[in-house]
This record gives sequence, structure tokens and C-alpha cells, in this order.
Amino acid sequence: MNVVVTGGAGFIGANLCRELLSRPGIGDVVALDDLSTGSAANLAGTGAELVEGSILDPALLEDVVAGADAVVHLAARPSVPRSLADPFASHDVNATGTVRVLEACRRAGTHLVAASSSSVYGSVTDLPKHEGLPTRPLSPYAASKLATEAYVLAYGPAFGLPALVFRFFNVYGPLQSAGHAYAAVVPSFVDAALRGEPLTVHGDGHQTRDFTYVGTVARVLADAVEREVTCPAPVNLAFGTRVSVLELAHQLAKALGSAIEIRHEDARRGDVRDSQADDTALRALFPNLRATPLEEGLEETVRWFRSLA
Ligand code: NAD
Repeated sequence: MNVVVTGGAGFIGANLCRELLSRPGIGDVVALDDLSTGSAANLAGTGAELVEGSILDPALLEDVVAGADAVVHLAARPSVPRSLADPFASHDVNATGTVRVLEACRRAGTHLVAASSSSVYGSVTDLPKHEGLPTRPLSPYAASKLATEAYVLAYGPAFGLPALVFRFFNVYGPLQSAGHAYAAVVPSFVDAALRGEPLTVHGDGHQTRDFTYVGTVARVLADAVEREVTCPAPVNLAFGTRVSVLELAHQLAKALGSAIEIRHEDARRGDVRDSQADDTALRALFPNLRATPLEEGLEETVRWFRSLA
């Protein structure tokens, strides 16, 4: 079975390429990536082939997807603050780019697994978030991911495309980049702590997130590819753990074996207050799943950051 991973040189993409190529049923894995936020170094030692280019290039897409049995569509312009800085850029890649990927899959008759985001729930305050809740995006990023999933799910009834969309929550783990303005909370915390600097918490720190270890996400995505799983509705990919940002800092101090200092800054525009997944749909589709617990995942993440020093 041959697989194309768009955004395959990114954080989740490169972890997925490694997972796919560890499975005997998988043949070739091609990572299609423009390296805008990903890097070729992430794929070192995975065995995946990197094709450098954009999902906005239809001829290239058609060429890459032609020999594939499945496409995992992860390429996107990530992050809420990035989308506030340049909404059009997020729309182009996340919405228009998704239609490009869908068209290539439709022509090739390829199974598609795509990434949406828990940010689509936005201002809906119900917890845990189940997929039947309304969506109320709070940022251009969230709106563009809602477009991603709406397009993918429309291609089933419209064209018979076999597809599955996951809503990722807060994914963390090795290969996630730190040290830039748009970095996610876990790599920012680990990076600062290892430098002996205070951890920056936006707002009061009591906002909550459902953290998912990237190894678990990669296993679910690879299972979805191998079993050709489809679903007519989006599926949360997280496990209902609700951890505040301050609690995350505390758990990280344990994983590091040292004390940490916290500095508060203003809350960020576009961020949701609380997030926690209902995992009923995920468990029904993937009954044998074991999610890596936060404590274990943070230890792995710290180990990886230390290996970079
Ligand atoms: P990432 O930035 O590491 O990966 C995105 C990849 O897409 C990068 O390698 C980037 O270079 C590539 N890319 C961007 N524009 C492209 C284009 N036009 N053509 C080809 N490649 C392009 O981010 P990630 O965290 O690995 O995110 C992967 C997917 O998961 C994204 O769709 C993102 O929206 C979604 N997601 C991630 C999280 C999370 O917590 N990390 C949460 C929700 C959703």
C-alpha cells in the first residue's frame, strides 16, 4: 500500500511517516511539503521520500497522488495567531488547498484521511465537545479548518470519495517546533524550562486543553489508512483529558525533575477558554486504541528536546 502525506515534513506529518513505514503492510510513503513550517530534517531516517512543492500546484498534486492508495492530508497553515496576521494565506492553503487535494484524490480514486481542528467548536461552551455540537469559529484559522472538513465531507455524497476527517485537539511531542512566535504551548514550555527561563502563560492559566501525544495520533492515522476507515461526520481525535495550562506546567516540572517559574501575559485573541473531547465516536471506530498518558508523553517530549542540545 502506497501513501502520500501532505504536510509530511511537518510535526505530525513526519511522526506519521515514521509510523507508516514501521508497518509491514505499507510500501512507499511520499511526503508532499513546501517546507513553509516543516523541514526536510524531520524526515531523516524515516525512509519517506520528500517531494518539495505546494498543494496549491494541481499538476504536481495529480502526479504525486496518481500512484497512491491513500492520502493523509495534513498540509495547512497552522495556528490561530498566524491566521489573525494574514487571513488570506490561511484561507488559500487550508480551504483552497484542500479542494486541490480532493480533486487529485477524486481523479485517482484514493482514500483520504484529513486533519481538521477542535478550534471549529470555538465559542461553544459545552463540555466535553461532541461532534454533534454546533461549530462557532473564533478565528480565521478555525473558519478555514471548518472549510477543510466541510469540503472533505461533501466529496463523499457529491463524488463518492471515501474519506475520514479527524478533529485534532492539542497535539504535542517530538519534532514540534519551539522558539518562534507561533509555537504551541508544550514545546514553548519545554524549550523555556530547559533554557532556565520562565514559562509564559497567556491569561490566568486556568484555561484547559485536551493534550494528545503525537505517537497516539500517528497510530490512529496509520490504522485509518490501513483499514480504509471512512465516516460521514467528523471524528474527534483526543481522549477527554482536561488539563489546565498551569497543571501542564506542574506536570512538566515533574518530568524535568526541576522547579519552574511562571510569567503571565495577556490572554490571546481567538483562543478558546476550555477544550475537552468526547471520544465516543473515536472509540467506536478504533476500539483497540491505547492513548499515551500525558505523564509518559511529556517524558518522551523532554527526552527529545534534551537530545537536541
Ligand atoms: P506543521 O506546521 O508542523 O505541519 C504542517 C505542514 O504543512 C508543514 O510541514 C508545512 O511546511 C506544510 N505546508 C504548509 N503549506 C503547504 C502547502 N501549501 N503545500 C504543501 N505543504 C504545506 O503543523 P502540524 O501541527 O503538524 O499540523 C498538521 C495538521 O494538523 C494541520 O492540518 C493542522 O491544521 C492540524 N492540527 C494540528 C494541531 C496540533 O495541535 N498540532 C491541532 C489541530 C489541528
